[in-house]
Amino acid sequence: MANTTPTFIPFTRPSFNQETIDAVAQVLRSGWVTSGPKLAEFEATLSEYFGGRPVRCFANGTATMKIALQVAGIGEGDEVITTPISWVATSNVILSVGAKPVFVDIDPLTRNIDLNKIAAAVTSKTRAIMPVYLAGLPVDMDQLYAIAQQHQLRVIEDAAQAFGSQWNGKKIGSFGDLVSFSFQANKNLTTIEGGCLVLNHLDEAKLAEKFRLQGLTRHGMDGMDVDVLGGKDNLTDVNAVIGLHQLKQLPSYQARRSALAHRYFDVIATQLKSNGLDKLSLELPIQNFTETNWHMFQVVLPLEELDCDRAQVMTELKELGIGTGVHYPAITGFTLYQNQGYKTNDTPIAERIGRSILTLPLFPDMVDTDIDRIAAGLAQTLKKHHKN
Ligand SMILES: *Cc1c(COP(=O)(O)O)cnc(C)c1O
Repeated sequence: MANTTPTFIPFTRPSFNQETIDAVAQVLRSGWVTSGPKLAEFEATLSEYFGGRPVRCFANGTATMKIALQVAGIGEGDEVITTPISWVATSNVILSVGAKPVFVDIDPLTRNIDLNKIAAAVTSKTRAIMPVYLAGLPVDMDQLYAIAQQHQLRVIEDAAQAFGSQWNGKKIGSFGDLVSFSFQANKNLTTIEGGCLVLNHLDEAKLAEKFRLQGLTRHGMDGMDVDVLGGKDNLTDVNAVIGLHQLKQLPSYQARRSALAHRYFDVIATQLKSNGLDKLSLELPIQNFTETNWHMFQVVLPLEELDCDRAQVMTELKELGIGTGVHYPAITGFTLYQNQGYKTNDTPIAERIGRSILTLPLFPDMVDTDIDRIAAGLAQTLKKHHKN
């Protein structure tokens, strides 16, 4: 055939099997489509998955994190320590409950919050730490909880990207304080949109249910009352049934992501070498094959050695049929945050990584030769723009 345009590889794509599609059709035909029996089953299954801790689901990860802050009683006048390298939802929810995000710089190796810099950011107003596990890689959980205990802080884990990740063999979410996950379409386990919160005890779960539905304390034949301001953040049965089926497939997704990540390390090294670029550092991820869920595979472009910016590299990769993403620019650079006085210079490592990080495609339905094509395309593009 004359058509030589390579098929486009997006940076991510969800997988749904026929069984999932059939299960959705069944819910649609059942006559009960919003929160009901499938949600209850999904929450119970997740609770079992997390070793028996209470779990409640919400309409999305953002609502999940906001409700986690409300359950922890965080609001006006409180400070929450977090990372500037995250999806903006992380700090937006802190603002939305009236609290103040305090940004601590990242560790350039993990790209997560630098735990060693937290103590210096703690004030008398600090109430919580909100770490993010970028690309699914957890922080040092022993150190995190030691810091929290020392300063008497709550921990609200933004584990949006870390479903299936572990720490010392224990699932993220199976221990700790409040742990929030997202089931948005790009995440390792998706319900299209959705999220869940792992809580400490049933009183907290009841409170989360109240915030999830308008602040209702009771409704039905015994009357109705509202005692706090809640939202409308429930997950539907249509979403929940997708989650139940995704959970069954998670081990196979996970194995595939891990194998593809392995291949990236091999093939990127080979391609750089054969293009005479073996001295170029792409700051590849930590080769952690036991604890991370490989939510993303990210490199950091050596912009000081290139005659172009990241956008140009992304454009040229797109022309080669390779989709990429930026996760994420430093939150402190956004207008909303600049207007509140935040400065990207205060967290210089986040500023640099946020300007040069690049997400390469990684999702379970990729084939091995996709990885080869991406690595070759990347090396070719870097060679073209290398300054000497
Ligand atoms: C996806 C994501 C969220 C938000 O989840 P939504 O379901 O999109 O609301 C929050 N934090 C991080 C780090 C995420 O990746």
